[in-house]
Amino acid sequence: MVNVKYEDPRAHAVRERYLGVFGGPELPVPVEAIAGDLLGLRVEESGEIDCSGMLLPAERRILLNAHERAGGRDDPPLRRFRFTIAHEIGHWVCHCLEGRARDPKPAFCREVDLTEVADKTLEREANVFAAELLMPEPAVREAWEELKDVTACAARFDVSPTAMQWRLHSFGLSNPPADADGLETDRKAAR
Ligand SMILES: [Zn+2]
Repeated sequence: MVNVKYEDPRAHAVRERYLGVFGGPELPVPVEAIAGDLLGLRVEESGEIDCSGMLLPAERRILLNAHERAGGRDDPPLRRFRFTIAHEIGHWVCHCLEGRARDPKPAFCREVDLTEVADKTLEREANVFAAELLMPEPAVREAWEELKDVTACAARFDVSPTAMQWRLHSFGLSNPPADADGLETDRKAAR
């Protein structure tokens, strides 16, 4: 039973623009180059922020929490960074209109929340955008058909197994991640 519709054509448009201009392999999606080369956003790590990621639209900067490089759960930290970058690109494209929005607000993203129950609309929108950008549906379905394994699919897209499993779940191809309840508890505890 699929109860979530992940869909954001803006993510596909951005990815296709990048491929049209710069070419290169389609997977894994070159999210840092999309931020830097296509959108002109500087991606930096900071040890001094207390959220997962930040978008500072006036400065065209994305900040990543350097402490998250140390990892967590079973997700390789760089994959986590990739999702955070994609999420911040989502804010830039959807909420700052790539710099055209009047008075765009910085985004402080406490936790890049992979689940469908993210409670804040803008955060949820950025997450949907990130999932769409990194894991295009036709390619995910093809990978699943071929590999039938969450970890192998995650490796192909260079995303965390948790992110991949949510994505597969949204297409009705997999159960939600086993620790979904734990994630929910963590999130509540973090509030
Ligand atoms: Zn956010």
